[in-house]
Amino acid sequence: MPSEYVRDLRVVGSVLPFKVNEYVADELIDWSAAPDDPIFRLTFPHRDMLPVPVFDRMAALLDGGAPRAELRQASAAAQMELNPHPGDQLQANVPVLDGRRLDGLQHKYAETVLVFPSQGQTCHSYCGYCFRWAQFVSQADLRQALRDPADLTGYLARHPEVTDVLFTGGDPMIMRTDVVRRWVEPLLEAAANSVRTLRFGTKALSYWPARFTSGPDADDLMRLFERAVAAGRHVAVMAHFSHPRELETDAVRTAIARIQATGAVIRAQAPLVAHVNDDAAVWSRMWQMQVELGIVPYYMFVERDTGARNYFGLPLVRALEIYTEAIRRVSGLARTARGPVMSAGPGKVMIHGTAQVGGEDAFVLSFLQARRPEWVGRPFFAAYDEHAQWYDELKPLSASGASFPPFPELAP
Ligand SMILES: *Cc1c(COP(=O)(O)O)cnc(C)c1O
Ligand code: SF4
Repeated sequence: MPSEYVRDLRVVGSVLPFKVNEYVADELIDWSAAPDDPIFRLTFPHRDMLPVPVFDRMAALLDGGAPRAELRQASAAAQMELNPHPGDQLQANVPVLDGRRLDGLQHKYAETVLVFPSQGQTCHSYCGYCFRWAQFVSQADLRQALRDPADLTGYLARHPEVTDVLFTGGDPMIMRTDVVRRWVEPLLEAAANSVRTLRFGTKALSYWPARFTSGPDADDLMRLFERAVAAGRHVAVMAHFSHPRELETDAVRTAIARIQATGAVIRAQAPLVAHVNDDAAVWSRMWQMQVELGIVPYYMFVERDTGARNYFGLPLVRALEIYTEAIRRVSGLARTARGPVMSAGPGKVMIHGTAQVGGEDAFVLSFLQARRPEWVGRPFFAAYDEHAQWYDELKPLSASGASFPPFPELAP
């Protein structure tokens, strides 16, 4: 790459995490199309990912050979400007066991507990739009991770309403199988019988398919999935696929087939982001390919309000347009993909479309998941806004009397 670009990379990389491995570089990126190649844009920094003043400040320090301590301080300050914890993740949804906060568990929706195992707090490569990026930068107070599987089982024993345990990260598939086993085995015992589904949120199929195919560690993981299925649990690999190219290599095809041979089901989800997949044809091709590979299309997310959101974000109206155009091009089997969905503070909000309400243009929305289950599935409205990019930018309709936020408890 030209030296000018390398400087940009160093400046952006001093604030946002950057990591790319040889599989992504050799098999996914089309270097003849870089820097506009979608996988290059997905993984490699771009100067526009930082607000101009932040970029200039960091560039001046780096160019001037500032001492390490000063650089560290400046990057920590810059990170705090980029809303590292969207949806108040650090304070909200952290469960308590015997008076002790279990940082590293999130229990927001009754039936599902999220687990952030401490050994799984990195990924094989990083996505530029990552909403978990704060977990990867070296500020201890930005990390939330669970060390001891006994804390998980202890919590589950008191919460029989939990049917799904969702391992997330970073990427839980970065963990060696003997570590994964320490987390999973207790959930297969009779005492953990309320747990019916084990989910693994992962981008390893995109970034490191060898995790599922190569060597004894991969074999052991397949045996573990088989045992979980034999124990009556549903094993769901919640795969993050941003672009159809990630589904095209021989390596990923082999990995998909191996996972499916264990009885596990792969479901696919990703955010819709500028520069990578903001094109209806990309999504319809990806969903169709997923159906052919036996993968269930699941969620299309709206880019979250964090990190490099000024670079990757899109207005909600554009997201809606891309989703609608893409879903119209596929058959019902691929219409299991729901979106665009915002994972916001009160819940997962789906944008169904636009409508006229009392003569006013409106967004039609509903909660797919909510802090309070009784909010789920009740349509509500917000004023149409061609610039809004996130739930908290939405406003009530002025004339109709319909309220936004939709439930009085949500009012600020
Ligand atoms: C998305 C999400 C889940 C899972 O929701 P499903 O709709 O069941 O996939 C669970 N917890 C949190 C905090 C989430 O954001
Ligand atoms: S795979 Fe997920 S957690 Fe890892 S960098 Fe990408 S978005 Fe972030």
